[in-house]
Amino acid sequence: MKFDVNCVFCKIIDGKIPAYKIYEDNDVLAFLDVNPVTYGHTLVVPKDHYVSFLSTPKDIMNKVMNVAQRIGQVQMEQLGAKGVNILINCYEAAGQVVKHFHVHVIPRYESTDGFKLEMKDLKDVNLPQVLEKIKID
Ligand code: 5GP
Ligand code: ZN
Repeated sequence: MKFDVNCVFCKIIDGKIPAYKIYEDNDVLAFLDVNPVTYGHTLVVPKDHYVSFLSTPKDIMNKVMNVAQRIGQVQMEQLGAKGVNILINCYEAAGQVVKHFHVHVIPRYESTDGFKLEMKDLKDVNLPQVLEKIKID
């Protein structure tokens, strides 16, 4: 069991901090975000402490994503959501505050319901140069 004594999500997993748990198995826990951006905003985490989605072993990552998908479906079916945003912040520069991999499953009711992911166009990007740098086999 990978555990970080200073991690708030490890404390929730360990039962030291209460949370509204909506799903639990041996590897994965899902609970309501304490500061929801929309009605039903849920977090899905691996029980083992991995800092980021990018550093989580594939088998664990797959289990977390499977639960996230199911929760998104239930939000559509049970909460009347019209859509769902799946959000993973990786590292501080991307807005990650809690350093334990988590998936935000954010039910959406309308485009003005409180959550907004703003995407601004970068001007003058050399796309072939980017491709050269990050193309993978
Ligand atoms: P991040 O910005 O790291 O992707 O998001 C962390 C999320 O964890 C935030 O949405 C925040 O509201 C939530 N959070 C932080 N501390 C707690 C807590 O003690 N309990 C619960 N349920 N959620 C928390
Ligand atoms: Zn942790």
